[in-house]
Amino acid sequence: MGHQIRCIDCGHTETYHPRTINCSKCHSPWREVVYDYDKVAQIFRNELPHRTFDLWRYKELLPVNKPIHTLSMGEGGTPLIRAVNLGTMLGCENIFIKDERQGPTASFKDRQAAVTIAVLKEAGVTEMVAASTGNVAIAYSAFAARAGIKLWAFVTSLVPAVKMREIALYGSQVVKVTGSYDQVKKIAAEFAEQRGLYHDMGAKTITSVEGMKTIAYEVAEQLTQEIGPSENGLWRTPDWYIQAISGGLGPIGVAKGFRELKNMGFTEHLPGLIGVQAEGCAPMVQAWKQNHETAEPVLTPKTHIETLATGTPGRSYEFLRAQMKKNRGMFESVSDDEAFRAMHILAKMEGISAEPASAAAFAGLFKLVRSGAIKSTDIVVINCTGHTLPAEPLVLGSGWARNVVLPQQEQAPQADGLLAALSRVAPDRFPRVAIVDDTPDARRLIRRILQSQGEYTIFEATNGKEAIELVNREHPDLLILDLMMPESDGFAVLDALKSNPETAQIPVIVSTAKELTSEEKQRLQGQIQALMQKGDFMSDDFLEEVKSLIR
Ligand SMILES: *Cc1c(COP(=O)(O)O)cnc(C)c1O
Ligand SMILES: [Zn+2]
Repeated sequence: MGHQIRCIDCGHTETYHPRTINCSKCHSPWREVVYDYDKVAQIFRNELPHRTFDLWRYKELLPVNKPIHTLSMGEGGTPLIRAVNLGTMLGCENIFIKDERQGPTASFKDRQAAVTIAVLKEAGVTEMVAASTGNVAIAYSAFAARAGIKLWAFVTSLVPAVKMREIALYGSQVVKVTGSYDQVKKIAAEFAEQRGLYHDMGAKTITSVEGMKTIAYEVAEQLTQEIGPSENGLWRTPDWYIQAISGGLGPIGVAKGFRELKNMGFTEHLPGLIGVQAEGCAPMVQAWKQNHETAEPVLTPKTHIETLATGTPGRSYEFLRAQMKKNRGMFESVSDDEAFRAMHILAKMEGISAEPASAAAFAGLFKLVRSGAIKSTDIVVINCTGHTLPAEPLVLGSGWARNVVLPQQEQAPQADGLLAALSRVAPDRFPRVAIVDDTPDARRLIRRILQSQGEYTIFEATNGKEAIELVNREHPDLLILDLMMPESDGFAVLDALKSNPETAQIPVIVSTAKELTSEEKQRLQGQIQALMQKGDFMSDDFLEEVKSLIR
């Protein structure tokens, strides 16, 4: 029977074969698979509840005739994790992380590789070419290895060496090209053409789009589990889907997935797409902000985040823009530094280490929540991917470990020798910060922010009385004080501190959830060093303030 593909430009429909790369009528390379959605919807209603939670549970909506179980490594079916701490920090309850790190090669590229390689295997293809900023080649290499397909992986010399070695380890031939990613793509295409090899065409690769769209299906199913069905009893759609964008394949696929769900009557909405690019290579963001229909290429990308260094977005931008204009969505850019900072915050607040490209998406989230573009009640899903190893030297800098060198001895070292060595591991005294707040979430949040940014000894008090005792006992270097607490409030704490010469000099940052009255502001005048609105704790100002007061 074969799958049907429809040309996006002229609408011509024909039978799909992976080796044909153009519409036979108008020669457009932009085509997509169409399915008998009513029939599939019926099958899904009956069978999905009984199927394993991986990518192949949606096999009727994939252009594979018969999934090959021996190729599979558990691709898809990644967890959707509620970001509780980030949510508290940002004041948004419904932030979810689609944890694509948990795929076979730790990136969402596993989905495109699993589907593409399965289709190529069915078609008898034994050798292929792909240009990559790293993760695509790693994913293809792993699945190609299982399928016995040889991969020529063309990468830029900027791709971290550990990623190149991983590609080589899987048996692929790495071709390292010194040039921009867009040049690498051209050379790879030429090489494939000369040799008559199958060639991955980025966002134009039908199987890749089909693989990526499974993110949408999973997210809708998982959100429905997490927060319940929609008011009409249908599957949930997030308000926003956020991903860092290079070529745009991911969001193009995810958008198709959500459109299909709506077509089949499983959902009633489409999410707003948010594409985040690195400032030094943000052709889509620039075009979007100037309301241009096409994007000007960035010829010399200036970002350390090589995964995001596609300078020529081509028609991907037009498709994404059209989708965003029709159904909400936006492009935003972040600096490399903002991405690296987000990488720290994500790791330290949520225990999730994502690579810089994914961290850029989180930096975009922070920016858009702060600007009000994402509202506190919105349901947000962020695509998160791994491969942190190459990034760590860059992001951590030096001094991240403390060395313990034990004296070389015949016998085992004496216990006191060990202790002496260990006492050099941590200074005896870190800056001491007391956090006074009656809500546990607020205390935990401030504690996590401080811990994520430096070394502090942290004390906590849950009310005014405890706070005064704590300060008298521990003499902290800084007090972070909530004003509104039951019984003795922040004002009472301040009065007590200031009337005791031993504690009068301790700097105080007051945190408040509400706008203060002018009378309240009057009372604080001269008594405190800074006033912070809760929710502003994320900002650099807060940490700068803390550091400067402690010095
Ligand atoms: C590939 C990749 C991107 C870019 O995705 P596109 O869909 O090609 O725009 C972003 N982040 C990570 C981690 C990636 O691996
Ligand atoms: Zn056509």
